[in-house]
Amino acid sequence: MNTELATEVARLHMLLPANGLVTWTSGNISGRQPGSDTMVIKPSGIMFEDLTPDNMCEVELHSLHNRSDYKYSSDTATHAYIYRHMPEVGGIVHTHSPYATAWAANGRDIPCIITAMADEFGGPIPCGGFALIGGEEIGREVVRVLSGHRSPAVLLQNHGVFTIGRTPRDAVKAAIMCEDVARTVFLAHQLGEPLPIDPAAVDRLHRRYTNDYGQ
Ligand SMILES: [Zn+2]
Repeated sequence: MNTELATEVARLHMLLPANGLVTWTSGNISGRQPGSDTMVIKPSGIMFEDLTPDNMCEVELHSLHNRSDYKYSSDTATHAYIYRHMPEVGGIVHTHSPYATAWAANGRDIPCIITAMADEFGGPIPCGGFALIGGEEIGREVVRVLSGHRSPAVLLQNHGVFTIGRTPRDAVKAAIMCEDVARTVFLAHQLGEPLPIDPAAVDRLHRRYTNDYGQ
């Protein structure tokens, strides 16, 4: 397989180790194939530097039928569940990035105490409950927490992070920003009691960033 989407998904994977979000073969990205009930996702257990468009897996969202030669990521059922229940989502990223996962191990939301976080996440990054890998339990928890939430990122208790986006690139951006704010907010707590931001200001920052920022 060497579609445009497989090329994009393979290429985006390089941003995960480059930004310190993953170690060894953990972490994965997928993208919804526009106009079909399939997604492209990372193969299982292949090193990031060996990922190419040709070893990406193309998987049917309902049956999880694998159209590729490689065994798909062990998080495939979770990604498929999210695509099936959130039609607006076109890309998903999963990592165990260290600062965000440290918050998750405490079962704590990351509080919104810096303006960059208000911009990107529109409030705190929520932490969902504990769920076991393999079936649909994690997907159900991600969909439950993120439905109607402004944050494109969710922490999973004792586990790690899932981010969603309109495109795989948007989801990767959210994963990088999530780890960045998780680190800064952690550091802020080492210095004492961080100051909260007025919720009305959070709303205004998020609206300005969502509507006016960029080219
Ligand atoms: Zn995981």
